[in-house]
Amino acid sequence: MSRLSLVRNPHHATRKPDGHAPRFIATPAVFEQIQREVAYAAETGSHLRVAGRGHTRAPLCRCDDGLLQLSRFTGIEDVDAVHGIAWVRSGTRLSQLARELASYGLALPTLGWSGNESVGGAVSIGSYGLGTGDSRYPCPVVGLRMIGADGSAFSIGANDPRLPLARVSLGTLGVLTHVGLRCIAASHLQSRVTGRSLNAVINRVNALRAHDYVEWYWTAHSDDVRLRTIDRRPRHAPGRHRHALKSGSARLRSAVHRAIDVMPQFGGRLPWRLIPERARIPESVDAAYGWQLFSESNLGTIGYALPIDALGDTLHALRGVLRAIDPKQRVVLRVRYACADDAALSPAYGNETAFVRILSGPKVRDHAEAAGDIFERHGARPLWIMPHEHHLRDLETMYPLWNEFAQLRAELDPRGLFLNDYLAGIFGVEEAS
Ligand SMILES: Cc1cc2nc3c(=O)[nH]c(=O)nc-3n(C[C@H](O)[C@H](O)[C@H](O)COP(=O)(O)OP(=O)(O)OC[C@H]3O[C@@H](n4cnc5c(N)ncnc54)[C@H](O)[C@@H]3O)c2cc1C
Repeated sequence: MSRLSLVRNPHHATRKPDGHAPRFIATPAVFEQIQREVAYAAETGSHLRVAGRGHTRAPLCRCDDGLLQLSRFTGIEDVDAVHGIAWVRSGTRLSQLARELASYGLALPTLGWSGNESVGGAVSIGSYGLGTGDSRYPCPVVGLRMIGADGSAFSIGANDPRLPLARVSLGTLGVLTHVGLRCIAASHLQSRVTGRSLNAVINRVNALRAHDYVEWYWTAHSDDVRLRTIDRRPRHAPGRHRHALKSGSARLRSAVHRAIDVMPQFGGRLPWRLIPERARIPESVDAAYGWQLFSESNLGTIGYALPIDALGDTLHALRGVLRAIDPKQRVVLRVRYACADDAALSPAYGNETAFVRILSGPKVRDHAEAAGDIFERHGARPLWIMPHEHHLRDLETMYPLWNEFAQLRAELDPRGLFLNDYLAGIFGVEEAS
């Protein structure tokens, strides 16, 4: 079997600090190449992990054998304009996807993604905004096309009962080659940022969820909340709105937002109301450039998916503990609302959810353990992007359909071709590579 797309990893000798590096990295550009790599791994009894952009901090893409990197397998394959469904190659970045969809007059119904993540990666980990729905819309995925552990292609369509099990798979069921996404008409996005108190945002959860997108930043030592809402507006004639944030004032606003997002200490000491009005006026961009409204900021120290009903109690408990540990420590949290999800391994499974991230500060790592205990006591699930230290039994309790997923995984990939040691631990199966 020839392996045209495969190159020996020149850095294999210089392994990462965790002692792992793939022996081979393949960057296939066409479906047949992906299929050939999987068939080769099946024939030779080796293991294969898939990466979209490889942003995830947990060692999900780690593998000592082969790594499939899908950054060349991109673009929209076809569009059903009548039903608004686009079939997209899984290596496509969300920013590229937004631009390509705009040329069909379409947009993704969800917001909040920063643009760099791949479609396959975002769907496979239940990432906010594409793997799960956002404040208003459920997850837009209506079908998956995959290559299974024996190298054969198969599809899971909208009416297939396996779709809710297979959608969030952590890349353990096969290589996702195409994702079917339900889209909506392209629009403009109107963003508004205001200052609020913590109790005001918690008490108005339902009213706020009427917006297309909601996120807020809270500095745990104060009551100050910076609330951002985004709403869709009909597309106007070209020229009335910016297509992208190009103008000087837009750059200034964007720079201020980014500065606050990436510097929790600074943001913590600077109440939002003190920021000049000029930097707070609403911005409107075309949906094709909507990701520019969402700074990627940092990945944060910990991230949890918390049932919305538990938000108030959890944050008040968290504030008490963080203050007790260090009253001077400024810890900034970001909260976003998401729809309840039906995907078995989605962090938002079964709950209207608040995605809460603690953004890094100098000493915030010291607080992560205490904060984690509080989140989990209130029924939160850790996000898959963060390294997961839970035992199998915790995951079975957190995810009611865990065993059904595990059974499907064992049926589709009995040898564990798509597992690495980390995932083998999570699924309680014999050691993989
Ligand atoms: C600075 C930063 C900020 C972030 N902020 C957020 C945030 O606010 N909210 C949020 O939810 N996430 C956030 N993320 C996480 C990011 O959205 C996810 O890590 C994203 O899904 C990663 O996309 P990726 O293409 O890098 O996926 P990868 O890391 O490449 O892959 C993620 C998982 O999907 C699997 N996978 C990827 N492609 C395929 C495929 N084609 N077939 C099968 N399996 C596949 C991989 O095996 C792996 O298990 C952030 C990441 C960074 C770096």
